[in-house]
Amino acid sequence: MEVSSLPHRTLMGPGPSDVDPRVLRALAQPTIGHLDPLFLQLMDELREMLQHVFGTKNSTTLAVSGTGSAGMETCLVNLIEPGDRVLVGVNGVFGTRMCEVARRCGAEVTAVDAPWGQALDYDALRAAAKAGSFKLLGVVHAETSTGVLHDLAPLRAIADEASALLFVDCVTSLGGVAVDLDAHGIDAAYSGTQKCLSCPPGLSPVSFSPRAVDVMQRRKTKVQSWYLDVSLVGQYWGKERVYHHTAPINMLYGLHEALRIVLEEGLPARFERHRRHSAALAAGLTALGLELPVESGARLPPLTLVAAPPNVDEARVRRELLSEHNLEIGGGLGSLAGKAWRIGLMGSGCTEANVIQCLNALSAMLARQGWSTPGDPTDAARASLRESGGA
Ligand SMILES: *Cc1c(COP(=O)(O)O)cnc(C)c1O
Repeated sequence: MEVSSLPHRTLMGPGPSDVDPRVLRALAQPTIGHLDPLFLQLMDELREMLQHVFGTKNSTTLAVSGTGSAGMETCLVNLIEPGDRVLVGVNGVFGTRMCEVARRCGAEVTAVDAPWGQALDYDALRAAAKAGSFKLLGVVHAETSTGVLHDLAPLRAIADEASALLFVDCVTSLGGVAVDLDAHGIDAAYSGTQKCLSCPPGLSPVSFSPRAVDVMQRRKTKVQSWYLDVSLVGQYWGKERVYHHTAPINMLYGLHEALRIVLEEGLPARFERHRRHSAALAAGLTALGLELPVESGARLPPLTLVAAPPNVDEARVRRELLSEHNLEIGGGLGSLAGKAWRIGLMGSGCTEANVIQCLNALSAMLARQGWSTPGDPTDAARASLRESGGA
């Protein structure tokens, strides 16, 4: 296979998302040394931009060499010691994964479950936090497996009931939905590059509050992962510049450019763009006669869950969208497998053109399987955009 002959796909699944051509050009710049003074300057700028998008002054803010899951693992291996008690809100794949990784760190995990497709029950979470003492409370801000967004504002007070650190998965929210770590009293957070930052997968921005850093410094045992040990990686990202592992240099170029694009647009404008276009997509899908299982107050703008009608072969729709329209959308996971689609509007892929292309292509694929659509999805989407101002 010639990589150069790969088609251009429109990526509207749960990630990776469309990558801005500026980021692709940045990736193709000549590789320089990982201790080159110019590269070190680029890393300092990266940290500053990450602090800005995370909404934090945390000096321990860096990009882990690995995808979002490596960021999850970095936070947990550094904060947890064997025997620690951890409380996790679980309503999808990524809360489930958080429990699994915490257990592998030796934690005693208490999960507070909510049905997939619904938001966590904060009263249940608070009751569990009150009932025991926990080192850490973990919550997934944007559950990409179901399209549910959680309110961060009440979580600090819930974590305080258990005197716990507050730990948040921001993989699909960072750059698409406000995160504001400091305002919400979040102690540890991680993200990924291939969702709303519109960079290829491969890096995981992480950030630790001074309180989390203090917990790491007072560990009784060594972090079991040498590669992800923040006390070592931090010496390379910090003033010491001690070699730990070779930084993925060109990936960091890509992230640097991706963050510049985010900050040029400005965070409030970017969040508003995600809200407007996801509302337009929802209006179009409703006009197609499709159900959106997530209640409107809990919907995640960058990712919409759509119920596949029972008489429609959902996998065939996805296959044909890809082969005939070069358009990728996601299928359901877990209990939603075979029953739902997940449509992403992330970062530079969150555009009117993508909303319209997706609705038209989906409409055609559904018609082929005998689905009759009650309304005009394009009209509905455009009307929604007009109502919300702008275009
Ligand atoms: C994508 C995703 C992850 C995992 O990221 P990878 O880059 O696939 O390792 C974790 N949490 C959430 C919410 C995600 O959407």
